[in-house]
Amino acid sequence: MRQNLIYCLLSLPFLIMLVWFYLEKHNIKKRELKRQQLRAQPLPSEYLNILQNEFPLYLRLPDELQLKLAGHIQVFLDEKDIVGRDGLEITDRVRVLIAAQACILILNRPGNYYPGFRSILVYPSTYIAKNTRSEGMLQITDTSTRAGESWHRGPIVLAWDHVLKGARDSRDGRNVVMHEFAHKLDEENAAMDGLPLLPTPEQYQQWSQVLNAEFKVQQQKWVDGDDDVIDSYGATSPAEFFAVVTETFFEKPLQLERYHPKLYEQFKQCYLLDPKPWAKSKD
Ligand SMILES: [Zn+2]
Repeated sequence: MRQNLIYCLLSLPFLIMLVWFYLEKHNIKKRELKRQQLRAQPLPSEYLNILQNEFPLYLRLPDELQLKLAGHIQVFLDEKDIVGRDGLEITDRVRVLIAAQACILILNRPGNYYPGFRSILVYPSTYIAKNTRSEGMLQITDTSTRAGESWHRGPIVLAWDHVLKGARDSRDGRNVVMHEFAHKLDEENAAMDGLPLLPTPEQYQQWSQVLNAEFKVQQQKWVDGDDDVIDSYGATSPAEFFAVVTETFFEKPLQLERYHPKLYEQFKQCYLLDPKPWAKSKD
């Protein structure tokens, strides 16, 4: 009798785990089915007009990637909440241009539409953010002006005027949406340290070798004041290096490959894409 009771108590956690596992599997299946349905729907014509008029990169994509991006935009807009701050009205234009630029990064990456957060807060223009840091026993608070930020396991914050500028000029190597969403890819495997999830286990060793070496070169260039196709902000940390090189990879692929061929190859494998042909075609 007592043995039966112990057996029951011991098996209870196992049963709970089994039920949880079943429900989780069911939810994943349900979510994937919904995503498939959303991707199969045609993009509303108003959305298409916004892409065609304000996001020249969309027109340079080959047909199959245009179709893929349209599907990803539908899922992204269904799963993320885009919220206006300081009186900014969230229109289709705001929603579509954020979704389109964010989804360029996951065009070919198998995955999950930036899991772990839901909210995107959008200010009309650059905003003032508070920074708090400890120095010894002291807590120091100061402020800085920002165009965007990504909170670890929290929301993304964006300035709409920079979102719009990034969408309209896709050849200047600067894109706040791509930058902040690259941080989100980076944190998918825990820390935000410049190492995102890579498609195969074999890639990690080479990624670390190439990225570490290139980051050191970038830091030296920063110290020496030398110009580079990669913005010097990338030299501030490995996480910023990954985000800044992501912007360069999608917006200046020809220059990145020319001056940093090994780095370009790693990013090509990471994003499972080669943006060079898009850069060659005219707007
Ligand atoms: Zn950053």
